[in-house]
Amino acid sequence: MKPATKYIHAGMEPDPSTGAIMTPIYQTSTYVQEAPTVHKGYEYARSQNPTRKALEDAYAMIENGKYALAFGSGVAATDAVIKLLAPGDEVICANDMYGGTYRLFTKVFEKFGISFVYVDTTNSENVKNAVTAKTKLIWLETPTNPLMNITDIAAVAAIAKQHNILLAVDNTFASPALQNPLDLGADIVMHSATKYLGGHSDVIQGALMMNDKDLREKLYFIQKSCGAVPGPMDCFLVIRGIKTLGIRMKAHCENGKIIAHWLRNHPKVSKVFWPGFEDHPGHAVAKKQMKDFGGMISFELKNDSVEEAKRVLSGTHLFSLAESLGGVESLINHPASMTHASIPREERMKNGLSDSLIRLSVGIEDPDDLVEDLKQSIQ
Ligand SMILES: *Cc1c(COP(=O)(O)O)cnc(C)c1O
Repeated sequence: MKPATKYIHAGMEPDPSTGAIMTPIYQTSTYVQEAPTVHKGYEYARSQNPTRKALEDAYAMIENGKYALAFGSGVAATDAVIKLLAPGDEVICANDMYGGTYRLFTKVFEKFGISFVYVDTTNSENVKNAVTAKTKLIWLETPTNPLMNITDIAAVAAIAKQHNILLAVDNTFASPALQNPLDLGADIVMHSATKYLGGHSDVIQGALMMNDKDLREKLYFIQKSCGAVPGPMDCFLVIRGIKTLGIRMKAHCENGKIIAHWLRNHPKVSKVFWPGFEDHPGHAVAKKQMKDFGGMISFELKNDSVEEAKRVLSGTHLFSLAESLGGVESLINHPASMTHASIPREERMKNGLSDSLIRLSVGIEDPDDLVEDLKQSIQ
């Protein structure tokens, strides 16, 4: 089945009790049993819920995986993966990743005795050199948030396989429409479904997709034991969001390309970070492992001051100043003070995340209006 068809039909079965084409929102905490342990496969809604199951079936299919699990947020999904580990284990991760992931690793899990080694994963040699006997997991994000760095997933997967290390990839920025890490050798794909999968800025949710049954059982055990499950209403919203993923991503990519090129030609803009540019350091790898380059763009102004960045950030009307990304509406963000404020300034600077960097989540409005909006703000 082709992706666009899959997004609409994945996991969807007419409701057995009524034939409803949309899986109903099973807003229930428990299920009546005929006799003790005689039931229809549903006992208690932390463990099983039909709306969540329909979504999890869809999640698996859209990432070409066998299994998937839904979580109450993207960070809850990441949290579940780290809980596969034990004190003394090491994780190799990217030095440029979502601030909340960095916060979870450093502020929550380090104190449980798990070590995180940050390397520049855009060169897979760095990953190889960081492997020790204690390495149990490699955590990648590509493209990264907000600098759009690209890591070669297949190259890192080969290293992981060779050393019997799990590879997890945060695929939030690309979405399954542009990149499928399981096909490239990853063991686990993680999504903040809050972003492109939900697609309408109205839900917080996370997902994990995988092929290995044993790994699925371990993660399901964590999901039900730790309890970070999404409610049925949120699952329904993501099911609906996924249906339009194909056409939305096409529009995000088309608009992204227009805005990236427009910014690059703007006299007040010094640098544009977008993997679709041929001179982007990760372009060749992006071209190899992604179907298109997406609608996430960061840029710096020639006047490299926080004040100037703040002026631009406050001057747009269609681009709303907000955290998050991946919705139909365009957003503008200041990573240094907003999404990435949890990363110490020194760390941010080291990784090239300047104080004046501005990040755009290009929505699916008419691109002429988006360009007009930026034009009146960047002047
Ligand atoms: C938003 C985001 C997360 C966290 O997801 P939540 O749904 O906000 O918990 C993780 N990774 C990336 C790349 C994100 O953009």
